[in-house]
Amino acid sequence: MVDLDTLFTLCKRRGFVYPSSEIYGGFGGFWDYGPLGVEMKRNIRDLWWRSMVQERDDVVGLDAAIIMNPKTWEASGHVQGFVDRLVECKICKQRFREEDVAAMACPSCGGQLSEARLFNTMFRTFVGPVEGEAAVAYLRPETAQGIFVDFKNVLTTSRKKLPFGIAQIGKAFRNEITPGKFIFRQREFEQMELEYFVKPGTDEEWFRYWVEQRKNWHLRYGISPENLRIYEVPAEERAHYSKLTVDLMFNFPFGWGEVEGIADRTDFDLTRHSQVSGEDLTYFDEETNTRYIPYVIEPSVGVDRPFLAFLFNAYQEEPDKEGTRVVLKLHPKVAPYKVAILPLSRKENLVLKAREVWAQLRPHFMTTYDDSQSIGRRYRRQDEIGTPWCVTIDFDTLEDQAVTIRDRDSMIQERVPIVELVSNIQQRLAVC
Ligand code: ATP
Repeated sequence: MVDLDTLFTLCKRRGFVYPSSEIYGGFGGFWDYGPLGVEMKRNIRDLWWRSMVQERDDVVGLDAAIIMNPKTWEASGHVQGFVDRLVECKICKQRFREEDVAAMACPSCGGQLSEARLFNTMFRTFVGPVEGEAAVAYLRPETAQGIFVDFKNVLTTSRKKLPFGIAQIGKAFRNEITPGKFIFRQREFEQMELEYFVKPGTDEEWFRYWVEQRKNWHLRYGISPENLRIYEVPAEERAHYSKLTVDLMFNFPFGWGEVEGIADRTDFDLTRHSQVSGEDLTYFDEETNTRYIPYVIEPSVGVDRPFLAFLFNAYQEEPDKEGTRVVLKLHPKVAPYKVAILPLSRKENLVLKAREVWAQLRPHFMTTYDDSQSIGRRYRRQDEIGTPWCVTIDFDTLEDQAVTIRDRDSMIQERVPIVELVSNIQQRLAVC
């Protein structure tokens, strides 16, 4: 697998990801997504939403505020328990997560480390014009709590019956002690979470169902089976609310790392919010004529970690006529651009035709246009950013009203009439 530095350089050079506020020296744990990154991220979100909401009859969506009433975080246990164990080097004063250091020696200078102390990783801020303890609020460290506190509203307005789920995508913030490994561990990132409410007693079955569903999603959109591992998280490593947790791990070049966690959160959150808010958050089960607090299964995945995993999994270097081609074999639905339009020369009549073809494609696909340097160089540039199809407009096009489609992976070229171009590419997308 390609190393982290090579992938990082490609991401920066081609406009997938840049260090945040780079002209000021960057800012640890914060990253910006460039023109290609923003497209790919959007595709990942859309594919998640499609499989978790659109294609199902039992899940609805939500977009809750990032900053919530701070009582939320007391009830959920985050003020008390959302902590990492922090150790500090007695020599160089650098700080680390205890679980990231081996043999209790400073990874930077080898110095002796302090005793671990608890460090809450929620970001604090002040709401309103007065600063002080009374105005403290938190940037959400997970999107899930927005779903729990809106449970009753959604239940009433959607009139769903158990089992049903509420899905949400949005930013989350954690003041990670040691951000790093590129976008793997950030302080501001994005999460896609489903809270799936079930009848108590059926939770373990639903838990296994969601592990399977989510594993298949990753396999379908860009992770090879040998790079995916299911880790049953032992009790001592589980979050305070979890009865069962499975992590889906990807074989990153820096080691196996979690891309998604699936947890059985039981009735912990709804019970706590019920107690602290005084609201009745029970569900009335018409079949059994009873009231209870549902259990919840949570598949929780970032956008950024699948983004990184898909890139690593897709990156290939292949020998070709000119040496080596770098190709990102991204799933076409994940790739930033679906089609690149390449006129063979900059002759005016050819450019006019190419722009006409481009205009026909734009309403249907995310596209790009490139007319500089040789056609071979341009194919390589598209391979390197994962564009699945290149459409070449040549001098014959002016006569036969047809273009050549070149496939990124097989490099097979096919002549297609312009009038069939949109449907031809739609067809290619539909079958992958
Ligand atoms: P880790 O053990 O790596 O810190 P976690 O167990 O704290 O992760 P969860 O709380 O399960 O992570 O969060 C669910 C998902 O959110 C993760 O699987 C990951 O995709 C994403 N995520 C969590 N923390 C970060 C982060 N700091 N940067 C990027 N993505 C993150």
